[in-house]
Amino acid sequence: MAFELPALPYSPDALEPHIDARTMEIHHGKHHNGYTNKLNAAIEGTDLAGKSIEDLLANVSQYSAGVRNNGGGFYNHSLFWTSMSPDGGGEPSDRTNIKKAIDRDFGSFDSFKKEFAAAAGTRFGSGWAWLCVDSNDKLFICSTPNQDNPLMDVVPESGTPILGLDVWEHAYYLNYQNRRGDYVQAFFNVVDWPTVSKRYNDANPGASDFS
Ligand code: MN
Repeated sequence: MAFELPALPYSPDALEPHIDARTMEIHHGKHHNGYTNKLNAAIEGTDLAGKSIEDLLANVSQYSAGVRNNGGGFYNHSLFWTSMSPDGGGEPSDRTNIKKAIDRDFGSFDSFKKEFAAAAGTRFGSGWAWLCVDSNDKLFICSTPNQDNPLMDVVPESGTPILGLDVWEHAYYLNYQNRRGDYVQAFFNVVDWPTVSKRYNDANPGASDFS
């Protein structure tokens, strides 16, 4: 069973004015589609065909650059689209575990935003910024180059990504040109906190007791 490009969970213009429709169309229809097709080509006819994307990423150091780059590209963009919503933005509800964990691990929501924006802004060249949870249920922010991600066995900080931001120029250049910082701030207006909250709760079920 080959990997399939997931449909966008909203229309390409749904995130305007924060992310423009043309960028979304090219980013999903060309870039993400390309990673998906190239990942399938890289594993077709090999003993990697049929493995889950999580399996491939967890052992990616053993595989070709094509699996690393396109497997990362396939996974990262799938997480990215579902990290955003036209109803997104703001802060997670005070009642949620993710909000309590952000306050615990970063001090405040504002401090979290500053650290995340710094990770996204200082990634040199192409890559991603991530909010992750480690196996002790602690949140951390990191960034990775190219299409690497924290599920891969090649990165210094391993964890489960629960929010990802693409800072490749193809993600923002049409609308923001060189103003990556403006794009990063706009991203906060579309973050789908209910989804991020669910990912946090699912990462280490029952690990943090905030009751
Ligand atoms: Mn991208």
